Amino acid sequence: MHTAFISHPDCLLHEMGAYHPERPARLKAIDDELAACGLIDKMVRYSAPLATHEQLKRVHTSEHITSLEAAAARASSAGLAYLDPDTAMNRYSLRAAYRAAGAVILATELVIEGKVKNAFCSVRPPGHHAERDRAMGFCLFNNIAAGAAHALEAYALERIAIVDFDVHHGNGTEDIFRNDPRVMMVSIFQHPFYPYSGIAGRSERMVNIPLAAGSGGEIFRKVVSQFWIPALERFKPQMLFVSAGFDAHQNDELASLNFAEDDYAWVTEKIREAAQKYAEGRIVSALEGGYALPALARSVTAHLRVLSGD
Ligand SMILES: [Zn+2]
Repeated sequence: MHTAFISHPDCLLHEMGAYHPERPARLKAIDDELAACGLIDKMVRYSAPLATHEQLKRVHTSEHITSLEAAAARASSAGLAYLDPDTAMNRYSLRAAYRAAGAVILATELVIEGKVKNAFCSVRPPGHHAERDRAMGFCLFNNIAAGAAHALEAYALERIAIVDFDVHHGNGTEDIFRNDPRVMMVSIFQHPFYPYSGIAGRSERMVNIPLAAGSGGEIFRKVVSQFWIPALERFKPQMLFVSAGFDAHQNDELASLNFAEDDYAWVTEKIREAAQKYAEGRIVSALEGGYALPALARSVTAHLRVLSGD
């Protein structure tokens, strides 16, 4: 069985200004690297559908969806519509956001129905900062949460784990699932750092591990072994979702952790082992951050080499 690679050209049309780091070139860099090394030919490509309102309302309020629709209407007539100082919409952004969430929902279906062994969603806007009722930090809809909720509601899975190795804490994912006993979140994040969350909400199911600026792969591997793996063993998730941000890379200028491609390959192997042990190998991974283009492209490739078993 193959790994699914899910994307859509609409995700390239969303732009937040000429100098914004979360830019269409990120997806192009990933495509180019996967083509150059031939890995794309070993996966099956799928086109992301649009998420439906019904699917999004499992993780967002109706007001949130309405407010994004209103911002999209403003953007159509007036260039960019700002949702926070870092997050804006152009006339294509809403459609891209529906595709990004739709990609993770399709990935969930393909993996649970056994049509592929696992899946990666190469999409933008990213999602893990989007809270139930708020867009922020480059994120409009919480893509990974929409996929996890689909597994819980449409397929009646009872235990889902969300693994988040983006350099920023996934405050949106925590906001959505903090009180849901069916979901465990394990994460690392630079601390103190944007969005300044992740400590207060910690619990047995919110295994969020802060890392000091300057931390490298050795510390990352230590905390994964010491905290994530025992938590996953306790919880025995039936499926794993990955908020795959690559902005903890040493070359990424948005943050100050020092991970390398090898660390992403290593953690993906650990995720794969856990999935094989408890979850019939079921993994859905979706792109979050990662802004240094060559490092992003190489890191995604390292992640996908492990997922695809190449
Ligand atoms: Zn990030």
